[in-house]
Amino acid sequence: MVCECWRCGVERDSPVVLAPVWDWGWAFDEKAYLSSKLLKAGEDPYRQHAFNQLESDKLSSDRPIRDTRHYRCTSVRYDPDLPATSLIITFHNEARSTLLRTVKSVLNRTPPSLIQEIILVDDFSSDPEDCQLLTKIPKVKCLRNTRREGLIRSRVRGAEVATADILTFLDSHCEVNSEWLQPMLQRVKEDYTRVVSPIIDVISLDNFAYLAASADLRGGFDWSLHFKWEQIPIEQKMSRTDPTQSIRTPVIAGGIFVIDKSWFNHLGKYDTQMDIWGGENFELSFRVWMCGGSLEIVPCSRVGHVFRKRHPYDFPEGNALTYIKNTKRTAEVWMDEYKQYYYEARPSAIGKSFGSVAERVEQRRKLNCKSFQWYLENVYPELKVPEKELIPGIIRQGGNCLESWAQDTTGSMLAGMGNCKGTVNNPPVTQVRWASA
Ligand code: UDP
Ligand code: MN
Repeated sequence: MVCECWRCGVERDSPVVLAPVWDWGWAFDEKAYLSSKLLKAGEDPYRQHAFNQLESDKLSSDRPIRDTRHYRCTSVRYDPDLPATSLIITFHNEARSTLLRTVKSVLNRTPPSLIQEIILVDDFSSDPEDCQLLTKIPKVKCLRNTRREGLIRSRVRGAEVATADILTFLDSHCEVNSEWLQPMLQRVKEDYTRVVSPIIDVISLDNFAYLAASADLRGGFDWSLHFKWEQIPIEQKMSRTDPTQSIRTPVIAGGIFVIDKSWFNHLGKYDTQMDIWGGENFELSFRVWMCGGSLEIVPCSRVGHVFRKRHPYDFPEGNALTYIKNTKRTAEVWMDEYKQYYYEARPSAIGKSFGSVAERVEQRRKLNCKSFQWYLENVYPELKVPEKELIPGIIRQGGNCLESWAQDTTGSMLAGMGNCKGTVNNPPVTQVRWASA
């Protein structure tokens, strides 16, 4: 049954029919590529990749997936002369079956004229052939780091060799859905300052089922710079009359997005002193919004991604310290006086080393970017500034405190508003009386 109510969450069940648009030729031996890396008998299928590799290996690299878009997306028409894009996929020890399925889903579900190239950046995986062998597939190029760089520097490396005017970043365990690229390219073509993401569908890490994600979510975060999906604010939801319309988002999840290459370069690419994984999505998101661009989710674009519960790879400096370093750099460069709330929410970041941010601060100054206060007021008013500090007996408001400082003879508490003293021997300026029970 076709659901006419787009908010009711029921979607059509129409499997994608694959039209093979590529002649694979004889050069790439898929069977040999996959079979040399199958699991050994008795091996834990989750150990190496933190998803069920056995299930992934069983699936065809060309498997059909459900078209999860709203049905109205299928009648949207895009410019016939959309610009081509360079795809950049960085990976460190990705499973061969998921990496290959990512690449093949792109080739199978994208008009060839829109793909300039697929740049794989092998971030020093154990086996160089994971990447190298895939260059037998049309349009695929492979760059290999000579040491582990992390996804941030790897993406910048890919972007620097890209030859198309538009960059498309993808994780290495994705499957793109029908007409995934056109709606995103359309938005960027119309306005190069837009940075756009698809709705990210879920590929189950246990059985690799392709599951539709809700179309009512956007990217958000809390003061500790922890990313979360959140409901679109109710007023925005009510004013949306067209389910194919883009959704403004305060931040992007970070793994899958399209950006104009000149705009990416103009804004300062990424902070390449960030390591391995994490935090770069906030840094990019604040930078885009505060320096004159916008971020949006394009609901007619759907890309599946295997969301995992843990990182399967090592962090040379440790996972926690790396996340602190990356988010601390973000807070120091972009959050102005609001960075205090980051430190309050993540006290373990206080005193930790994070390198120099002088270059990034200078970049922000040169670009004449707006303040974090502007961002909070105009982009993310739902992120509330924390309640004024509450210490038992003291209510703080700015530089003033409402403090209890003495008891009178009846046992009632005397309190008053004034400079924060924190001591009963220093009575505040104005006094009020709290009845003591
Ligand atoms: N990645 C990388 N180098 C690293 C860590 C990650 O190239 O040191 C790649 C990884 O293979 C994946 C992408 O960066 O393609 C995002 O990492 P991951 O999928 O682990 O992050 P998540 O999607 O869980 O946020
Ligand atoms: Mn991922």
